[in-house]
Amino acid sequence: MARDYYDVLGVSRDASETEIKKAFRGLARELHPDVNDHDPDAEEKFKAAAEAYEVLSDAERRRTYDAHGHEGLRSGGYDPRSSSFGSIDDIFQAFFGGQGGGFGGGGGPAGGGDIAVAVEIDLADVATGVRREVEFDAVSPCEHCRGNGAEPGTPITTCERCGGAGQLRQVSRTPFGQMVRGVVCETCAGSGKIPETPCEVCNGSGRTPGHRSQEVEVPAGIEDGQTLRISGAGHAGDAGAPAGDLYVEVGVAADERFQRDGTDLISVVSIPATEAMLGTAVTVPTLDGEKEIEVSPGIQPGFEEVLRGSGLPKLGGRRRGNQRVLFNVIVPTNLSEEQREMTERLDESLEEDNLGPRQGEGIFGRVRRAFG
Ligand SMILES: [Zn+2]
Ligand SMILES: [Zn+2]
Repeated sequence: MARDYYDVLGVSRDASETEIKKAFRGLARELHPDVNDHDPDAEEKFKAAAEAYEVLSDAERRRTYDAHGHEGLRSGGYDPRSSSFGSIDDIFQAFFGGQGGGFGGGGGPAGGGDIAVAVEIDLADVATGVRREVEFDAVSPCEHCRGNGAEPGTPITTCERCGGAGQLRQVSRTPFGQMVRGVVCETCAGSGKIPETPCEVCNGSGRTPGHRSQEVEVPAGIEDGQTLRISGAGHAGDAGAPAGDLYVEVGVAADERFQRDGTDLISVVSIPATEAMLGTAVTVPTLDGEKEIEVSPGIQPGFEEVLRGSGLPKLGGRRRGNQRVLFNVIVPTNLSEEQREMTERLDESLEEDNLGPRQGEGIFGRVRRAFG
């Protein structure tokens, strides 16, 4: 029984065209056979994803599939086996392109594909910047032949099929329309050169799949969801072509103690109304450890204490913003008989002078400013 196309791509049934494209892109990167030499299932999974994408990216086919499922597609004359994508490489190229693979084809070997990884850092790392090691599967230049595909010490000749250009022209139909493009020459794999004795390690491809780790410098001030690009740290290209890029998406873990407001951090401290009346000292968390704040008698709810330089820097900057500590005053509840009597006595004793006039702005202004 064929799998549900939405399940295959991991999207919901009401996914937009963009979401579908994005999901397929992600799967394609993950499952591409260049990276998955060690996983024989990857090619099958890749084909399944391509089939799902081909149906769901076409509005009419998608309608048919939504209404009548796989059966409906088949009776409508759609046969996934005669897909308009010729091969995995076609799909991959249609999506990610290849250096020199454009219209008319400039020739030359193909550049390496890009790689995307994700890292998560803490808010404290945002203040200082941090180095992180990321790990991923990637195609690297073969160490044995230094990427030229020839057994060390043996000669390399010009490819006869493409005359050394590395590419052949091809017209093909894809869901994106008719495309004329240079296709990588299969004989020389785009290098334009053929080693007389192929490298024993990489079989002449000049590249080997493997696991790689890379140190990434995450700059101070980065925001959640921003992406760093490291040029040339992606998949190795064919011999003589540049490597792809590495994209590192940075997630900043939520820290329940702080709210981020540009370069400022906002934190809230709660004190009982009695301490607000009498004055007290409170300990508040900052990214640099705990700090003590003196609270003068008569502090009002919404009062804001500014800790200069305890916030975050701008992206790539050094000077840090402020931490704004917002005071919340808790009114005691569940009073005992005795507490109620004391409060009554206090209430009766209060004079005009104890209750105002309020100085400065009112609570709404303070709160608005704090979260503005
Ligand atoms: Zn090699
Ligand atoms: Zn060739």
